[in-house]
Amino acid sequence: MRMHRQFYINGTWCDPIAGQDLPVINPSTEEPCAIISLGGVADTDLAVASAKAALPGWMHTPPAERLELVKRILHEYKARAEDMAQAMSMEMGAPIDLARASQYGAGTWHISNFITAFEQIEFDAPLNAHSPEDRIIREAVGVCALITPWNWPMNQVTLKVIPALLAGCTMVLKPSEIAPLSSIVWSEIMDAAGTPKGVYNMVNGDGPGVGTQLSGHPDVDMVSFTGSTRAGIAISKNAAETLKRVHLELGGKGANLVFADADAGAVKRGVQHCFQNSGQSCNAPTRMLVQREIYDAAVETAREVAEATTVGPANASGRHIGPVVSQAQYDKIQGLIETGIAEGARLVAGGLGRPDGLNRGYFVRPTVFADVTNDMTIAREEIFGPVLSIIPFQTEAEAVRIANDTVYGLTNYVQSQDGTRRNRLARQLRAGMIEMNGRSRSAGSPFGGMKHSGNGREGGVWGIEDFLEVKAVSGWDSAAG
Ligand code: NAD
Repeated sequence: MRMHRQFYINGTWCDPIAGQDLPVINPSTEEPCAIISLGGVADTDLAVASAKAALPGWMHTPPAERLELVKRILHEYKARAEDMAQAMSMEMGAPIDLARASQYGAGTWHISNFITAFEQIEFDAPLNAHSPEDRIIREAVGVCALITPWNWPMNQVTLKVIPALLAGCTMVLKPSEIAPLSSIVWSEIMDAAGTPKGVYNMVNGDGPGVGTQLSGHPDVDMVSFTGSTRAGIAISKNAAETLKRVHLELGGKGANLVFADADAGAVKRGVQHCFQNSGQSCNAPTRMLVQREIYDAAVETAREVAEATTVGPANASGRHIGPVVSQAQYDKIQGLIETGIAEGARLVAGGLGRPDGLNRGYFVRPTVFADVTNDMTIAREEIFGPVLSIIPFQTEAEAVRIANDTVYGLTNYVQSQDGTRRNRLARQLRAGMIEMNGRSRSAGSPFGGMKHSGNGREGGVWGIEDFLEVKAVSGWDSAAG
């Protein structure tokens, strides 16, 4: 059993002051695989004080030096690729090949893209050509609390830590207590890269503890949070007392609009995307809206894809899907499958219980429901498991109405060969991201949602700007430099 009780504060690993042990459960075996410590108020205060003390120095460090640090972090991250993949696979159940390629790979992708985006940020520039004495300076927001979830651990950590560093902020990272092992490796990477003392700190803890202490802390200037809408609301309320900037990346219930003129691979691609990472992605296309003409064929394809999707332990190599992360998630998903059946949706594949041959571990059967109506619970709630709901529609207007009839607004998808229709829908769908015909968004594209999916944008120039204040100066002496 690995012991990882220490926190990374002010450039050193230190024992908790007010810690409480928590086992980390391997979701493939249901056995503890490590012990961490949940911090308390004294640990949170120490980490925030360390970030606060480091702020004046770091925010005035020349941008080029901050960029050099990020390049060193990328180098160290690549050197720890296998450790990182193993940690994520064990803590949250991503099959090892997925962990190596996508879970680890998300980190290199984001860090590299931020290095590129950084060149486009003007930290200091004239207001315009006609106002030589007016200057716009962009500077760090200040001390940031970065609170991350368990489903894509390094994706989230790199989307927050790297732009915060580049902006000149100092920070306290609180990773998910369910998947804390990768952030311990990450903190070793930050140390090995030579991050100045206090600029980056990491404290483990849960939502009611360190999470709440950070979101209400008077010396924290900004909270950047990714996780559930429930926690996003709690954080917003708690942060309001001290008027923090609150950046939220929350849940989703993505609609995938499949028109009769969609390409031949559209349905298969949509089902596989929904099941990826065992359905534990905020941008998963979980509501498949299918036009009547191709509805029966699409349901049949979805059944075939679900039945061909294998499920297995995270440490096994292959293209199977792994377990879901925890007993709580397993129970929640089982409850929603039961509700789907009770509310009259047609179960086409999968269903209750574990897949055959898997008696232990949080394994869920890849499940497809057809004849779902958008008012059913399985069409409204984020399930966060390998469960697809298929909803029929007749007309484009009806599809738009169903897609937009949700509290969420993260990612919608469109499958159609008609470019005019695609462009029209891109404007009509209420979501932060619209991905069409299987094309994923390119490097530098911002990730984020509308409505209950949040208000922040991560990645690219937008991801760095979210950590910057805009300062307007008049009376600037441009000759003085
Ligand atoms: P969660 O909200 O339970 O926990 C996320 C993090 O917040 C954890 O670190 C947790 O300890 C902390 N937390 C929980 N309650 C808190 C509180 N009251 N105050 C402060 N911190 C608190 O979510 P989860 O179960 O870890 O992650 C799954 C959720 O994350 C899903 O809803 C998913 O859609 C969402 N998500 C969104 C994005 C996005 O970019 N939009 C990306 C990934 C995941």
